[in-house]
Amino acid sequence: MKKLLLVLLALVALPVLRAQSVSGPDGRLAVTVSVNGGVPTYQITYDGVVLLEPSPLGLKTDIGNYMEGMELTSSAQSPVEDSYSVPTIKSSAVHYKANKGVFTFSKGGKAVMEIIFQVSNNDVAFRYQVLSINRDTKVARVWEEATGYVFPEGTRGFLSTQMAPMSGFARTTPSYETPYVEYDKLGANGDGHGYVFPALFRVADKGWVLVSETGVNSNYCGSRLLGKADGSYVIGYPMEESYNGNGTVAPGITVPGFTPWRTVTVGRDLKPIAETTVTWDVVEPLYEPSIAYEGSKGSWSWIIKGDGSTVYPVQLQYIDFTAAMGWQTVLVDALWDTQIGRENMEKLAAYAKEKGVRLFVWYNSNGYWNDAPQGPRGIMNNIIARRKEMAWLRDLGVKGIKVDFFGSDKQVTMQLYEEILADANDFGLQCVFHGCTLPRGWERMYPNFASAEAVLASENLNFSQHRCDTEAQQAAMHPFIRNTVAAMDFGGSTLNKVYNVNNDLSRRGSRRRTSDVFALATAVLFQSPVQHFAMSPENLTDAPAWAVDFMKDVPTLWDEVRFLDGYPGKYAILARRSGDKWYIAGINAQEEPLEVKLDLSFMGSSAVTVYADDDALQGSCKQQNLKKDRSLKVRIPCNGGVVIM
Ligand code: CA
Repeated sequence: MKKLLLVLLALVALPVLRAQSVSGPDGRLAVTVSVNGGVPTYQITYDGVVLLEPSPLGLKTDIGNYMEGMELTSSAQSPVEDSYSVPTIKSSAVHYKANKGVFTFSKGGKAVMEIIFQVSNNDVAFRYQVLSINRDTKVARVWEEATGYVFPEGTRGFLSTQMAPMSGFARTTPSYETPYVEYDKLGANGDGHGYVFPALFRVADKGWVLVSETGVNSNYCGSRLLGKADGSYVIGYPMEESYNGNGTVAPGITVPGFTPWRTVTVGRDLKPIAETTVTWDVVEPLYEPSIAYEGSKGSWSWIIKGDGSTVYPVQLQYIDFTAAMGWQTVLVDALWDTQIGRENMEKLAAYAKEKGVRLFVWYNSNGYWNDAPQGPRGIMNNIIARRKEMAWLRDLGVKGIKVDFFGSDKQVTMQLYEEILADANDFGLQCVFHGCTLPRGWERMYPNFASAEAVLASENLNFSQHRCDTEAQQAAMHPFIRNTVAAMDFGGSTLNKVYNVNNDLSRRGSRRRTSDVFALATAVLFQSPVQHFAMSPENLTDAPAWAVDFMKDVPTLWDEVRFLDGYPGKYAILARRSGDKWYIAGINAQEEPLEVKLDLSFMGSSAVTVYADDDALQGSCKQQNLKKDRSLKVRIPCNGGVVIM
């Protein structure tokens, strides 16, 4: 009888709740959390329209299976507000306002897991907290995550496939270097390994949904999306074989402890997708910057001239070129350790300093996880060698490092990224990563994190004519997908006609299909606080003066972004503000010329400078006045661009 009473009391203590909702501040976006046959679920609506159908939630850990037999036993709501400034992201001043709902789930009458939702006007962020099951339990392994995404019938996907582990160049994959493809129906699983974040979906004619994750650091792994035959997706952890099998797939956490944030951004159009800051809204700086890190522009010889150009005389030319452009940096890419040598690197750094230029210096992340042969190797993976090297770089006045060839999303790799960043901050160095994972909130978490590749970047235009032929189509994806959640080091905006040493059309090399104005437009569309453009010294004489002059002045730090028009893979028009100056940039990948009337009433002046292409992709720059209603009609031919200042 006493026992029964205790059981009854326990049941009274944990009343089982029905579906609970939390809405954004303006009431249009709502998340409903519920339990369906013991499985926690969430549903997302916007203006009452279902954009995500009831989708599973839950974790399977070594201290308990929280994917089934669960009860929702309490929920609490509170407002969240934060103002912050991160100079290296798309908006310099962000005001974040959301409603937070904390949902407690119990199993066997005991609270074991919380799911925390933060809902702003167009973004949902949620994460799990695994609770202690008793006083002695301090750690857990997370074997599996049930988090799913069930889209309504008729949803299309814009997805980049997860690369097979230990494949590609020198077994360096996965490295987020596959194209984004529009799928008119869901239900596949990429090449068998799912898809990378971020992923964009168009829910019939009802709205857009961008799915990603943020706040991933050494406390967890990076995740991917696994596609199921029914068209839904579920969170997948890293691939066992990646990183040459080193490191675990299932992350380890302390308990009580959190998973990273899953994010879902929604809108009737692409405006909230292109303008979202959710990636940074829900994370915190993990350390103080040791110096004030700046944005910068620079050049790099490797992108056009290849491995053979990482030699002393060519780097001198690029220092002169960067100085002539009024830029700040030269990136000395792979193989400098053997082709230039440390003594000459010191001379280069000294020469650069005379010219008002600073160096970014390349490193291999390896290590013992892939076969990438380029040196220097064996430095960035080891704390003793790394810190000694970084002290040398600081003494040389080097501005930052570019570390390449990571190829894993495992927790052990996330720890390596974090340790490189934290050490580099001690020596006042900015970090750019290549051959890497998607940065997940890192601009705010690590103030010296500058940018990352994690995209089918400009090197592929050099490697392949097909990539040149589809350059505009891919470029029209990034503002709405990859680049909207993190800085993207594309390394582009070339003014060469052909990818070879002397820009010589009579010789071999991929032919650029896009126009010079397109190159200028991508310098604005592709956001990265540190840019190394694919321009070369020859462009001072072989490219149009108006294009070179534009590239001298284009900002790399922005205060604000506005979506004006676009469709992923077809065309993209954004406005970015730097101080009181607006730059409107558009590109078109469609066969037919794009004609749009832009409402530019937000610009301070009606006298504008317009860079535009004729139908033969011949660019020009002219002064124009906006119409009385402050509008401007633009025409962008296929593979062309427009920039309005
Ligand atoms: Ca790469």
